[in-house]
Amino acid sequence: LFAGDWQFFWASPSIESLPPMAGMEVAFAGRSNVGKSSLINALTGRNGLARTSHTPGRTQELIFFEGPENAGFRLVDMPGYGYASAPKAKVASWTALIHKFLQGRSSLARVYVLIDARHGLKDVDLDVLKTLDKSAVSYQLVLTKADQVKRTELDANIAATATALAKHPAAFPEVLVTSSRTGAGMPELRAAMMRLLGE
Ligand code: GDP
Repeated sequence: LFAGDWQFFWASPSIESLPPMAGMEVAFAGRSNVGKSSLINALTGRNGLARTSHTPGRTQELIFFEGPENAGFRLVDMPGYGYASAPKAKVASWTALIHKFLQGRSSLARVYVLIDARHGLKDVDLDVLKTLDKSAVSYQLVLTKADQVKRTELDANIAATATALAKHPAAFPEVLVTSSRTGAGMPELRAAMMRLLGE
């Protein structure tokens, strides 16, 4: 699956323009600059597939990437949230789009919520977890940029994240730890997706 060719498939600026449901989808969410594009590129082995955001919050679209032919597997790049300068209306439209997407998407097997390993969970992340709790979709936290923190700090942030997760029974209890720069955690994340596909 991850050895094959991944391609851009579809961009949806609104809930009316989603692609028809098919196969299995896995979505990625996270604050702007959390390293979401880098992670998608590292996972698929295709640099530049997901465009890294030089303008925070630029993409207000759901971007779908399609796996190798006949694999029946798609990745969904959700628009980044939580950038400081976002006007209220934009935040509201993000929330509405995501909420509707999560409600009616039976092809969506899991949402990976990315958290910067240096910063841990912020209030805006906790709001997103609440939104996810209200949807029927299973989700899992993924720490990013693990190469940027010392082992002791990383362990403390993993523990704090796991503790916070205890209040969210809908969440998958295991926290994945990754670095797009070093490739750490990529085999584990790929394996987790392969397991979903096999279920
Ligand atoms: P996005 O806004 O969530 O899509 O984040 P990007 O993928 O554009 O990454 C934001 C910034 O973090 C960029 O400067 C990346 O080079 C950097 N970055 C992303 N992943 C990593 C990582 O694993 N390690 C390090 N050190 N930097 C990263």
